[in-house]
Amino acid sequence: MRRPIIAGNWKMHNTTEKARELVELLKPLVGASDVEVVVCPPFTAIAATVNAAAGSNIAVGAQDLFWEDWGAYTGEVSGPMLKDLGCRYVIIGHSERRQYFGETDATVNKKLHAALRHDLVPIVCVGETLDEREAGKTLEVVRRQVEDGLKGLTPDQVETLVVAYEPVWAIGTGRTATAADAQEVIAFIRKTLKAMYGERAELTRIQYGGSVKPENIAELMAQPDIDGALVGGASLDAISFAAIVNYKE
Ligand code: 13P
Repeated sequence: MRRPIIAGNWKMHNTTEKARELVELLKPLVGASDVEVVVCPPFTAIAATVNAAAGSNIAVGAQDLFWEDWGAYTGEVSGPMLKDLGCRYVIIGHSERRQYFGETDATVNKKLHAALRHDLVPIVCVGETLDEREAGKTLEVVRRQVEDGLKGLTPDQVETLVVAYEPVWAIGTGRTATAADAQEVIAFIRKTLKAMYGERAELTRIQYGGSVKPENIAELMAQPDIDGALVGGASLDAISFAAIVNYKE
């Protein structure tokens, strides 16, 4: 069985004080959930968030990591550093990183292996742009991202892995993919992973991301292959994020 996982990607938002406040508000609201709940603050607020979330069912992730552990890489943050802070998850290959910071499937793959080496649960993002969708290339693009970005895993690592399907045109635009469209691509991602790794890919959790809100989460979660959500804007508000986590109620 795949346990649902709902993660908030705070992107470049929240100071330490704001992060603490948000977690304090969230704790009582998501405490009864059997969903895996994760929040991903910017690096600067990770320690404060881990502290505030201690003893609750809210786990903490980072939004990126570098693939080397130590060295002369000014400005970068590594897996051991994230572990040291109490991070359990890390987002890799978000479309904003691909678009603005030159991430490729090759760098995603290096970061994925670095995360797994340090027992961080990777949340690897894939998804097509609007041009690619309109050109009918969605499945081709997603297959390339999965085959190249997710290569070289052991069967156990395939089970640990979380993939987030985030169509770029749905991020921050208020335009959600229909539940049926999201299901179609996510089922295709699972099929691609199975072709690579066999039946163990039945245990890989695959999230949907892109304008997820309290109003559309239940329909998305009702799809057979959608195991959770990666939430941007709506995760900055405790009431909205809690309503998404508590989608079963
Ligand atoms: P929004 O929920 O703001 O569309 O962002 C989605 C996202 O990019 C999560 O990683």
